Amino acid sequence: TIPRDCPPDVEQLGRSTWTLLHSIAATYPTTPSAREQADLQTFMSTFSRLYPCWVCADDFQGYMAREKMPVGSRDAFGQWLCEAHNAVNVKLGKQTFDCSKWQERWRTGWKDGRCD
Ligand code: FAD
Repeated sequence: TIPRDCPPDVEQLGRSTWTLLHSIAATYPTTPSAREQADLQTFMSTFSRLYPCWVCADDFQGYMAREKMPVGSRDAFGQWLCEAHNAVNVKLGKQTFDCSKWQERWRTGWKDGRCD
């Protein structure tokens, strides 16, 4: 039989979404313009209201209300996003990720050459 794609479940949607979000952080400028900072702010607040897993979206909006999201640099936003992802990891009983390594995972590739 020919394999067919099905609508994503919460896990598949989550993996794809984290890939997009961390990749946005990885390509965000080190010194963003006022326009780029405003775009990121608008994107993330709209995202948190449209994310199509409503319990996830509710909790993420709560996280954004508690932990002010920095948009002033790539590393500040990337760290914040890593911590936000870790908060979900904790909630789901998953291992947390070492946020000093977020750029290796999502931008440069691992220092041991694993993504070459
Ligand atoms: P994922 O958590 O999807 O991670 C993908 C990859 O990212 C990992 O393999 C790892 O290499 C890397 N990674 C892991 N942690 C970090 C980190 N802290 N920083 C950087 N990189 C990291 N699911 C629910 O059941 N309930 C929820 O309330 C919920 N809320 C969510 C909220 C948001 C905003 C998003 C985007 C997803 C949410 N999810 C939720 C989905 C959940 O987070 C996972 O995506 C899903 O369970 C699949 O998990 P996974 O183990 O494949 O890895």
